[in-house]
Amino acid sequence: MRESVLSNKEEYLNSLFANESENKKLSRQFAEELGLARISVSAPEAKLISLLVKLHGCRKFVEIGTLTGLSAQYIFESLPDGGELWTLEKDPAHGEKSAAVFANLDQSPKKIHLVMGDAREELEKLSALGPFDGVFIDGNKAAYMDYLLWAEKNVRRGGLILADNVFLSGSVWGDRSAQKFSDKQVRILQEVNQRLADPNLYEGVIVPTFEGLYVAIKK
Ligand code: SAH
Ligand code: MG
Repeated sequence: MRESVLSNKEEYLNSLFANESENKKLSRQFAEELGLARISVSAPEAKLISLLVKLHGCRKFVEIGTLTGLSAQYIFESLPDGGELWTLEKDPAHGEKSAAVFANLDQSPKKIHLVMGDAREELEKLSALGPFDGVFIDGNKAAYMDYLLWAEKNVRRGGLILADNVFLSGSVWGDRSAQKFSDKQVRILQEVNQRLADPNLYEGVIVPTFEGLYVAIKK
């Protein structure tokens, strides 16, 4: 959901951080082919996610919304040997591209599981494998509260909760000029942001990236 014209700031950040591996470029190329390049994480955002996963020492991680496997690669590279990433995707066309990208990764010391299906159903099944050290929420916006409530139950105490696009292009503070989101989506994102800001439940903050990245630790 990025603007097609990059600001000088974004250009500058990209000049420093967008020197990506061939396999990440392949994810971007696939997203482009699907006409969805704008919804992939930017390189600096992805680098921040990767760094947080590493700083937090996450071993078992869940991503909701794989698209073409770009953010998944950034998360995967920060997992230690023995680490595991479950990444959930509903769209078969996206899953096919992601599988091709993941096949190029060395998965002997650690593992990526591409889980196909509706995330809400698949998450319930995944619960049996928890608790997890962290989650990156980047799927269907109308389901963000369901994803968060799942994470509250299945991420360990002290675990990492990341959520992308929490500004919903400004609609959460009343800027509806983008006109892309339904009232329901806006209300859900406002409720999710409010819940993550509850100091009894989480310690966190929104990093003001272009789309807004919530970073929180579960209490
Ligand atoms: N994390 C990716 C971008 C994800 S875009 C990256 O930055 O590289 C959001 C993805 O969520 C899309 O691929 C979409 O098909 C998927 N999605 C949407 N609704 C879903 C659902 N109910 N269950 C699982 N995946 C879903
Ligand atoms: Mg996103």
